[in-house]
Amino acid sequence: MSRYAEPMSRLIEELKKLPGVGAKTAQRYAFHILRSSDDDAAALADAVRGLKASLRLCSVCNNVTDVDPCIYCTSPTRNQRQVCVVEEPTNIAAVERAREYKGVYHVLHGTLSPLHGVGPDQLRTSSLLARVENGEVDEVIVAISPTLEGEATANWLAGALRGFPVKITRIATGVPAGSDIEYADEVTMARALEGRRELKF
Ligand SMILES: [Zn+2]
Repeated sequence: MSRYAEPMSRLIEELKKLPGVGAKTAQRYAFHILRSSDDDAAALADAVRGLKASLRLCSVCNNVTDVDPCIYCTSPTRNQRQVCVVEEPTNIAAVERAREYKGVYHVLHGTLSPLHGVGPDQLRTSSLLARVENGEVDEVIVAISPTLEGEATANWLAGALRGFPVKITRIATGVPAGSDIEYADEVTMARALEGRRELKF
């Protein structure tokens, strides 16, 4: 038996489903919402409902968007022939923060993970393969985290795109900026050496 009235335990149960939210935090959030004004509580409920009602995946790149195709896929100032492949829609913001990239994106919504039963069929790859097959892409930049799953995914992609006239590149990984190479593990150091570039004077 729950100690709380039914509407309260129902909200706590829902909040507990959020990542990083345990029973204690869920209780704190629920009581905060109970104490907040009717307007604030309604605004929160509306925002949650509006999210599902107005957002969808871009039919070209699988980015989360309120317009389809998304702003990147329709942008006349971005190179539509250069496609950066990321795991999750949130990774786009990380690439954009560098203000370096002027191409477009493709979101896989996950990585291959044989241990968890995630095979190529579970990833959203078809629209990327179609773009490459139709000759619409010059370069595919694989910007997936250098984890075991990420490496498996990058290798799978390279295999799937083999034979098409497209350049496949992988973002360099290595020693993080501002850190001491003394603390780099051997995989990081090997990658840093592999991704080295010429210094020009
Ligand atoms: Zn898009």
